[in-house]
Amino acid sequence: MENGAAQPVIVAIDGPSGTGKSSTSKAVAAQLGLSYLDTGAQYRAITWWMVNNGIDIEDPHAIAAAAGKADIVSGTDPANPTITVDGTDVAGPIRTQEVTSKVSAVSAVPEVRARITELQRSIATAAERGIVVEGRDIGTTVLPDADLKIFLTASAEARAARRSGELKGADVNATREALIKRDAADSSRKTSPLAKAGDAVEVDTTELTLAQVIECVVTLVEEKRAGK
Ligand code: C5P
Repeated sequence: MENGAAQPVIVAIDGPSGTGKSSTSKAVAAQLGLSYLDTGAQYRAITWWMVNNGIDIEDPHAIAAAAGKADIVSGTDPANPTITVDGTDVAGPIRTQEVTSKVSAVSAVPEVRARITELQRSIATAAERGIVVEGRDIGTTVLPDADLKIFLTASAEARAARRSGELKGADVNATREALIKRDAADSSRKTSPLAKAGDAVEVDTTELTLAQVIECVVTLVEEKRAGK
């Protein structure tokens, strides 16, 4: 098939925080002319809404009851991914320490996951040329029929060092502890935990540069498209 008439390709990229998921996913989508969806941003956005509306984060019933209330819209251009809640741009506020420390509790609630998963599937289906979707449960639960599934890993040290670099001036040890805690919560929740799909390709990024990881994933997508 000619490239211009290529079938839409769906790429799922999962893994814990600090593995280079977002940078890799955005760059791969941009290089291949695909849409891009940051599903972590959606969980952060619903968490931001809960915090702003006085919902008790310790109370899963209160979270479940409010799960359908926020209107979350994701822009899928990899050059300019956007996220709004009820029309407000929340790209900055969803990255605060407060939201980061609360997102695992909110995302563990089944009603929240059902709502956000539905949103993710409708966005993926609407992407005409295909999409790169990054998250924790994309290959296992959200898009189990994805054309290509990648699971990114890296040592805890490498992940903490990368995150501290992003959060200028952050203490590496404190960042490492917070990362480990969040990954443990995300991996141990009952509904749709962070997990590698059986048919995912695992890429350990500890010793790789971002450019090498991007090249590796682009090659895997191109091989898939060529039917290898
Ligand atoms: O990727 P990011 O660190 O922004 O994700 C924030 C949080 O959103 C994760 O720690 C996890 O609790 C939740 N998440 C999830 N499922 C996804 C993506 C993110 O539960 N597919």
